[in-house]
Amino acid sequence: MKVCHFCGNTEFKQRTVQYLYRHDNNLLFVNNVPCVECAYCGEQYFEAKVLKQIEQDYQEIYVGGKPAAVELRVPCEDFAFAQPLNALAARAA
Ligand SMILES: [Zn+2]
Repeated sequence: MKVCHFCGNTEFKQRTVQYLYRHDNNLLFVNNVPCVECAYCGEQYFEAKVLKQIEQDYQEIYVGGKPAAVELRVPCEDFAFAQPLNALAARAA
């Protein structure tokens, strides 16, 4: 029986999800990736052949120069603690 490594639950559901593959400083989002998800904690498990396919897509795009289906622009920021609103108002004045 399959057991979740994180919570010990044995109930899973089939899903397709968006997978974020990261290699060096490069990212590749892959949509509609099949996985099984723990019904309790939500941990996702992917078959080795699925991960190999994603790695191959990554190579074709980043090394082979194959155009991706879609190119995204993604905002990125350093984490900042929220400023109290009156501090922002004082700075603006
Ligand atoms: Zn779990």
